[in-house]
Amino acid sequence: MVDLQGQYKQIKEAVNTSIDQVLNSSAYINGPLVHEFQADLEKYLDVKHVIPCANGTDALQIAMMGLGLEQGDEVITADFTFAATVEVIALLKLTPVLVDVDAKTFNIDIEALKRAITPKTKALVPVHLFGQVANMDAVMEIAKEHNLFVIEDNAQAIGADYTFKDGTKKKAGTIGNVGTTSFFPSKNLGCYGDGGAIFTNDDALAHTIRGIVNHGMYTRYYHDVVGVNSRLDSIQAGVLKAKLPLLDSYCDARRNAARFYNKALSVSEHIITPTTSACGEICDTCDCHVFHQYTLQITNGKRDDLHKHLLEKGIPNAIYYPVALHSQKAYVDARYKESDFPVTNGLIKTVISLPMHTELDNEQLTFITKTILDFVN
Ligand SMILES: *Cc1c(COP(=O)(O)O)cnc(C)c1O
Repeated sequence: MVDLQGQYKQIKEAVNTSIDQVLNSSAYINGPLVHEFQADLEKYLDVKHVIPCANGTDALQIAMMGLGLEQGDEVITADFTFAATVEVIALLKLTPVLVDVDAKTFNIDIEALKRAITPKTKALVPVHLFGQVANMDAVMEIAKEHNLFVIEDNAQAIGADYTFKDGTKKKAGTIGNVGTTSFFPSKNLGCYGDGGAIFTNDDALAHTIRGIVNHGMYTRYYHDVVGVNSRLDSIQAGVLKAKLPLLDSYCDARRNAARFYNKALSVSEHIITPTTSACGEICDTCDCHVFHQYTLQITNGKRDDLHKHLLEKGIPNAIYYPVALHSQKAYVDARYKESDFPVTNGLIKTVISLPMHTELDNEQLTFITKTILDFVN
């Protein structure tokens, strides 16, 4: 699905130099490269505060702790996402409220979100799924109207630009009160182990979060709040510092591969190719989709057969996600009705994600698309 080996070969020198720097300094924890990467990312995202942490799941948990959410508070998120999003809500004894997604973008459905709001609702967690920014105009409007926090789960869309209705642009993850990301190796900006970060423009929240990631300490050995231990280690920061300058070109490479796929595969009546929300095309003026995944819908019932066929032909592919969160054993709840989830219940049967990474060439793309069309049609 990804070619991390091929990508490493291209950037070997820069990455090795960064890692060597850490090894020679032996500042393995909180070394200078962590601070340098943090500053570089703040500049890239045009956000006041980046707080590095150990992984994207911690980032979500710490963001929710930082906002002071309490037991019984309802937190609304999408039914179609990686489990980490709902996991941390449940772990903190908040009440997860899962809602259906939009059939075109796979992102949180705005009408379903509005219907789910109650007097107990405290926060919304839009997930920028597969690299595409959710409808943040609508999410922010609803949050303002109901006085809710917005936590963007930006694990899959780092580098994406969101263009608001009024034409202004912001980087994904910097729109809500707080945004979170993951540097898991296969993410669009991945390190060579685990890593994550939290972003915010709110000075007070940034201060609170900096303490939480470090055992609740604001002064050494004085623990003012219950915190956690969640650090980005220096070697991973070194890898990320070397890779960050390439992120835009990585996003372009992904978009180019997506364009190729879309053009080749949209000829089939049995395939729905991905669209971007703003204009319905993968264009150069809106960069709201950075294709963490390239995900098709196969509408003739042959999805599972295609999955097996492609594996037999040596083409990696995956079903993200095979089970809707409201149907997962850990998250079943009598509050949910199947009729509330027509879209996710359909998507789990039709979606298939193709190889998507920065090293795909035309020969590979031609082989993949031809194999799919020969089978589906
Ligand atoms: C990967 C991912 C996470 C979790 O990130 P980790 O670094 O693996 O903990 C959270 N949310 C979404 C949507 C993800 O894709």
